[in-house]
Amino acid sequence: MGKILDYEEMLYHLDQLDSNVIRKMPPIGYTTHGYPIPHYTYGTGSAHVILTAGTHATELIGNCFLIHFMEQLSNRLIDLDPAKITLHFLPILNPEGTIIVTSAIRSLIPRDTSEITEQFLATTYYGNCKIDDTGDTSLCLDMFSHATWDMIDDKHTKLKRHLQLLDEQYHYPKGVMIAWSSNGNGIDLNSNVVPTKYLKDTLEGNKVYGEGHRRLLCLTEPGPYGCPTKKECFQLEVENRALLHFYENCMSSHNVIGSIIYHACGGQVIYLDDIGISPWREKPTSDEIEYNRMVAKVYADETKYQMNPNTSYTTMDAKIKTMLPGTLLIELTPMRGTPLGQFVNSELGLYDETMERNTRAVTETVKKMCLHAPSICKKDV
Ligand SMILES: [Zn+2]
Repeated sequence: MGKILDYEEMLYHLDQLDSNVIRKMPPIGYTTHGYPIPHYTYGTGSAHVILTAGTHATELIGNCFLIHFMEQLSNRLIDLDPAKITLHFLPILNPEGTIIVTSAIRSLIPRDTSEITEQFLATTYYGNCKIDDTGDTSLCLDMFSHATWDMIDDKHTKLKRHLQLLDEQYHYPKGVMIAWSSNGNGIDLNSNVVPTKYLKDTLEGNKVYGEGHRRLLCLTEPGPYGCPTKKECFQLEVENRALLHFYENCMSSHNVIGSIIYHACGGQVIYLDDIGISPWREKPTSDEIEYNRMVAKVYADETKYQMNPNTSYTTMDAKIKTMLPGTLLIELTPMRGTPLGQFVNSELGLYDETMERNTRAVTETVKKMCLHAPSICKKDV
């Protein structure tokens, strides 16, 4: 058995969790093509923490890590007191994107692939990504050039048909499925955030394409990543509507003391400090900043990741950071080459160590949050 989980396997692993420990809740919402956005909880304590993964579908290690962490909790291997805390898990924020990316992966690395072959292909992909970084090649896409929309299982007909229509309209390069971070509408959920000047510039076509491997980045047309909205006038995607509604609801009814948002890659802990100007609210208070720095440091100490203050406010994760003190964005592992580079488990990249260090980091960070959540988070319920 390899380390990569496809969409169906993620659901299978989630179904296997001990329901006495991890409770399956109603989904927080549904995607355009009807896929549920799953929600699970651990514990019944008064201090609530929200953990999410998979906004960008190519950042697959985030989903895999969160599911791994839930499994360890389910197996009672983690010391977090369920009487004191409630953890909310949203391990697949972008189900449609996850179906697209993992269908591409399974076209080259089927489920029954041996671990050694999976490792060989993940390492090759990582190497190709490094080469793509230096020039005009697109070896990562070439590796998946045979992965057409037909690789998506027929049970996803509606999603598949929609993607084929998008392709007919926008002419994506071969192999694009492996780079598909967006949802099934071709909208990048992290960029799909209430309009800012940046978004206005984008819609007016002032910022268009990246370079090199990033040729795929297109801000003005639906595609694999970068596009913030499908309409000329801004439209929040259903996944984000559900996510914001979930945060708002949770914060208005519970004492929510923090949240951890998983992306990949970079090996960074990004938190809200007192720099930059947020379009969404006034500056955070000094108590909030101190709290953010404190929890970021605990996470960074456990993982040896770099601590970085938030510098941009044009993303959904930045908006959530301004809504909720104690929110961290974790860029899992410094390994290049999503979605496969992060699964390399040799001296080049240490997948197992990533899982272990981040498990410790979440545990210690949540404990720290419980001890030090500023009065600003506290709510009598
Ligand atoms: Zn990301």
